[in-house]
Amino acid sequence: MEPLMFRYCPACASEKISFEQNKVFRCPGCGFTYYHNTAAATACIVRSNAGLLFLVRNKEPGKGKLDLPGGFVDPGEGAMDGLRREFTEELGLNFKPEDFKLFASFPNIYPYKNITYNTCDLFFYIDAPDLTEKDLQPEEAEVSAVLFIKKEQLDIERIAFESVKKAVGLFLKIV
Ligand SMILES: [Zn+2]
Repeated sequence: MEPLMFRYCPACASEKISFEQNKVFRCPGCGFTYYHNTAAATACIVRSNAGLLFLVRNKEPGKGKLDLPGGFVDPGEGAMDGLRREFTEELGLNFKPEDFKLFASFPNIYPYKNITYNTCDLFFYIDAPDLTEKDLQPEEAEVSAVLFIKKEQLDIERIAFESVKKAVGLFLKIV
């Protein structure tokens, strides 16, 4: 799927702008070049005695399906700092960046308002044995519910994104 970003060259308005290698817009007329590069995104499995923490997404893509806390890394941010920020924003939780442990990375495709973002998802986990639902303040715009699911009760098909399904499946095998 091609991102519907530029029908005309943003510099000279030519219709001849091309999209190559699923990443670069190039205008043969004026030389305008734009790399729609892969974006970094994070996600984190929180392991508590109550189960693994999942969010129910409150917006598209994947509205109503399960997701992990996390999101796009902002400009100027490291991956763990981005993840720490997402935990604060989405759940009101304050973890330390050094407590997140990286265990996997998979590509993902994130369509949002007619633009397709290719992401490189970085998967972390963190142990928080005493964490329960009453420690959380979910952000309603993004999260419609928070669930702690025991691994034997988890249905991987309820997860919104392929990359997250793969990472959770791997986590249950190796960690
Ligand atoms: Zn141009």
